[in-house]
Amino acid sequence: MLLTLSTTLNSHPATDLGFLLHKHPERLQSFEVMAGTAHVFYPRADAEECTAALLLEINPVDLARHARRSGDRSLGTYVNDRPYVASSLLAVALGKVFRTALNGRCDARPELVRQAIPLRLQLPAVPDGGAPELLERLFAPLGWHVETRPLADPEWGRVGYVELTLRGELPLAEALNQLYVLLPVLDDTKHYWVAEEEVDKLLRAGGDWLTSHPDRELISRRYLAHARTLVTSALTRLADPDSEPEPHQESGRPLAAQRRSAVLERLRATGARSVVDLGCGDGRLLRDLLDDAAFTKIVGVDVSTGALAAAERKLGLERLPERQRQRLRLRQSALTYTDSALSGHDAVVLMEVIEHLDPARLPAMEHAVFGHARPATVLVTTPNTEYNVRYPNLAVGAYRHPDHRFEWDRAQFAAWAGRAAERFGYAPELDGVGEHDAELGHPTQLAVFTRTEPGRTEPVRGRSNSTEPSRSDANSEDARA
Ligand code: SAH
Repeated sequence: MLLTLSTTLNSHPATDLGFLLHKHPERLQSFEVMAGTAHVFYPRADAEECTAALLLEINPVDLARHARRSGDRSLGTYVNDRPYVASSLLAVALGKVFRTALNGRCDARPELVRQAIPLRLQLPAVPDGGAPELLERLFAPLGWHVETRPLADPEWGRVGYVELTLRGELPLAEALNQLYVLLPVLDDTKHYWVAEEEVDKLLRAGGDWLTSHPDRELISRRYLAHARTLVTSALTRLADPDSEPEPHQESGRPLAAQRRSAVLERLRATGARSVVDLGCGDGRLLRDLLDDAAFTKIVGVDVSTGALAAAERKLGLERLPERQRQRLRLRQSALTYTDSALSGHDAVVLMEVIEHLDPARLPAMEHAVFGHARPATVLVTTPNTEYNVRYPNLAVGAYRHPDHRFEWDRAQFAAWAGRAAERFGYAPELDGVGEHDAELGHPTQLAVFTRTEPGRTEPVRGRSNSTEPSRSDANSEDARA
């Protein structure tokens, strides 16, 4: 499905549309969005006229999976118009791809943000909402000149879709917010429930234009009723604990994938051959490690048998050739437990795991990992809480995952890393993963600990503090895990 947005700016070169949208006219950019990929490109970009296109490619299989997770098991989840017609999914993509523009922010051309600019919006296939005159009713009061061309099927006649062209002079943010609300209104998908936060979203996007719209009641009713697809992402996260909320980043690559690449790169750089992934979850990093023959011995450890079962299934262990299977072992254990199976490896990875521990149990983990397992390299990643303001769906002060016990800012992580390294004879190096923000840093913090004092298995005497548990304490903690 496609949306094009054209303008001729009088006071500025038309290509300034790129500044308003925060998307460079000379670049094709792609973003992972719910159930597909959104591409932004400019079919025309010169001083007179500039057209930006948002092309949304829906993956019907992903979509069916989303729908089934939210309880819809009908055939309609497989056979439907979603991939072809502008709908709630396009609204979701708009919200993600043009978020800054929707919020009416543009530091490069602030004077253009509030200015009404000549706009032409085109949507090649829009559901007519069940009543052909509805489009006129919805858009005309907002100042749009509405042009519709019914799409007819040669055999079936009218099919309920139109090609829609809107012309008007409005501030860009207002136009985008109107689409964000009205596309789901036109969309006639079935719905099951509506979350409270959708009301907030409607009020935020609706602003002044909705309060004065003669059909504000119909719009609100339909928007909220059809908001199911917007809610699906929340549902998906509930159904799939491995998926995580995504920060707003210009690059479309999911943060988890960027994290795995960064960890692999660091592991390769250390020359590690045998690696323990502590808190391996469903085993995505294990898969990457298996794919690289440099890693000859791979151990995945998790406290959750459910996670290990998922890892086993996703890795297709029983289908792996014997030689591959020999390289990998899965083990149920707690990372606060001094487990001798974890000793004698080159590297231990703790990727997004420490924040799942009670802060009081961190010393037990440090003892087990740095003191007892004692690999040449320990890699730790954890959220950078400063970056949380860039998460569009995260409430202020909320953690990225309900199971997190803490989330540290950069100073807290650096302080912890420094203390642990000193106590156990490691040198820490701090880095980050994901898009860097000058003020907030990276979304993910990364620390690489390199062992500097080989043999030691106990903390340096005199530097250990009273919270340092004895080995038996660590064991008894595990019994309760
Ligand atoms: N490393 C994976 C999973 C992170 S989620 C990734 O980055 O995708 C955190 C994982 O740590 C979960 O799988 C959870 O079961 C595990 N975990 C939490 N507490 C643990 C503990 N005490 N010992 C071992 N694993 C633990």
